[in-house]
Amino acid sequence: MHPATRTAIFRRLKAANPAPTTELLHDSPFELLVAVMLSAHTTDKSVNGATRILFPVANTPHAIAALGVEGVKDYIRAVGLYNTKAKNLIALCQRLLDLHGGEVPGDRAALEELPGVGRKTASIILNMVFGEAEIAVDTHIFRVANRTGLAPGGNPRAVEDALVRATPAEYRKDAHHWLLLHGRYVCTARSPACPACLIRDLCEYKQKTRPKPAVKKKGVGERVRRAARRAGRSAG
Ligand code: SF4
Repeated sequence: MHPATRTAIFRRLKAANPAPTTELLHDSPFELLVAVMLSAHTTDKSVNGATRILFPVANTPHAIAALGVEGVKDYIRAVGLYNTKAKNLIALCQRLLDLHGGEVPGDRAALEELPGVGRKTASIILNMVFGEAEIAVDTHIFRVANRTGLAPGGNPRAVEDALVRATPAEYRKDAHHWLLLHGRYVCTARSPACPACLIRDLCEYKQKTRPKPAVKKKGVGERVRRAARRAGRSAG
């Protein structure tokens, strides 16, 4: 993709949504870390449903650790893989208390050592909490980057590296959210909304969806012809 096209794509995404952010509910870096960690392989909606009842009861490493694995399961049961996530969440809180004074650490190595935290979660925390221009690649961003030609790659890390390399500096910090939201709501996996897509003319995807043909209303002429056919059959 030509660099000017890439810039034009981000310019349009920014114009449509100048301050993109996560849809995960949170009021502190720790709440964001918990929400992102819980969101692996499940929807933001189910995570928000769980944290809406968990955070009013426990929203610090100390309070969540005190719930214990079985106790925290009662709050996150609606989240996919909740058994494993409950174990990881308690271990994560304990590690924050033991090694980081209960604070969310600001370096990648320390984040990725937390139970249940991988590269993607660490990138989101570094970006949103510590202001680093990291680009976490999830399934939506992987699809959009490949379809559009923005940053083709065979695996999430290759796409991340390509995006970091090629995204103009002024758009890098927010690129994650723009591409994620675009993939979640417009460039969806099964049926991308190409006719309504604001970067349609810049996107290099070969199999863009076409506008659905307008359903023709049956006019008076057709109704008359059908009545005449029916009348002819009855007469016969
Ligand atoms: S034109 Fe279609 S394939 Fe390209 S980004 Fe838009 S929705 Fe996705």
